[in-house]
Amino acid sequence: MRVFFYTLGCKSNQYETGRLREKFFALGFAPADKAADAAVIVINTCCVTHSAERKSRNILRRFQKIYPRAKIFVCGCYANIADLASIIPGVSPIKQEQKLKPQEWGLPGFSRAASGRNYRVREFLKIQEGCDRFCGYCIVPYARPQIYSEPPEKILATAENLLRRGVQEIVLTGINLGLYNYTGQTLAAILRQLARIKIPRLRLSSLEPDLLTDQLLETLAENPGIARHLHIPLQSGSDTILKAMRRRYTAADYRRLIRRARKMLGEDSGLTTDIIAGFPGETEKTFTETLEFIREIGFSDLHIFPYSRRPRTAAARLPISCPVPLVKQFVSRLENLRQGLKQDFLKKHLFRPLAVLVENNRGAGFSSEYIQVKLQDKSSAGKFYRVQATAIQDDFILAKSAPE
Ligand code: SF4
Repeated sequence: MRVFFYTLGCKSNQYETGRLREKFFALGFAPADKAADAAVIVINTCCVTHSAERKSRNILRRFQKIYPRAKIFVCGCYANIADLASIIPGVSPIKQEQKLKPQEWGLPGFSRAASGRNYRVREFLKIQEGCDRFCGYCIVPYARPQIYSEPPEKILATAENLLRRGVQEIVLTGINLGLYNYTGQTLAAILRQLARIKIPRLRLSSLEPDLLTDQLLETLAENPGIARHLHIPLQSGSDTILKAMRRRYTAADYRRLIRRARKMLGEDSGLTTDIIAGFPGETEKTFTETLEFIREIGFSDLHIFPYSRRPRTAAARLPISCPVPLVKQFVSRLENLRQGLKQDFLKKHLFRPLAVLVENNRGAGFSSEYIQVKLQDKSSAGKFYRVQATAIQDDFILAKSAPE
């Protein structure tokens, strides 16, 4: 019996789909490349914005219509907060507690077909679950309220298994990764333990600014095998908006953190962030503060999100809003800024050496700074190359092998 997976949303969801795949294969299911070939379809949904919810519903309806004979399971954040069985009758919702236990889903009978999983060169490893911070705009603490950190022995065993399977880069993820704490062992402690098993490259996904401690920065600085790239969500550069968002830092705190991080990890490290455009109460003044702050910090890339009102959140109760045309205008101004910053960052690395992990047979991969690189010489997937950036093409760098 074959199973097909469809994943929406963040790296944690992608990671959990990977885990589910393994569990299904262990139960004897075989992978289906196309939904048409599958008897079981698993849709891992997202609810972080209105449009993520709509997309999740559309996919469910579409799959149900096109593949009426398949058994459709739905899990993930949207399934955690909504009664999807009522919204889309016929689908089988799975809540978070059962998500990684497919043996409890009441699967239809299956054969013990031999199967296996193909590991990618760069794999996610989720070590933390849940968030209880209740930022004003965010639905996640309602969808994933249970805070949990994986035991270090389990993390190390999983990482060692990934290495044996040929994985060359491990990306540590979590719903709020900086909250990792296993009986007093913090993320810094886990990183030090992982550094000992000689993972060719380790990367952190996203870290909240107030959780990026000095101890953590020191650990990153001491371990060159950890990628020189940080993703630190800013959301806004205006203190008025940050306060309304219930974020736990000011623009000045953020500036100080970045100065410290760059001093310790290198001025040319990659630095990416998330920005929300059009939060309730956003004005031209607060937006200009954000634009100026982003320019000042000089991010290497931005992830831009138009504000999306999520029921139950504190922001949903605010009596004000930002008019839709203004939100759209803010998004497009941010996008222009994003493109300029990205080009500046790529130019900075032109004609300099980069360490690239090639991920496919087209020679494409990422550098430690999270620059997308296309290697022009012959290369093999799964290998690191020391390259020199020779030209910029759109959002990536073309490179040749660097002379020794
Ligand atoms: S830290 Fe804030 S934005 Fe991030 S998941 Fe938790 S509540 Fe949401």
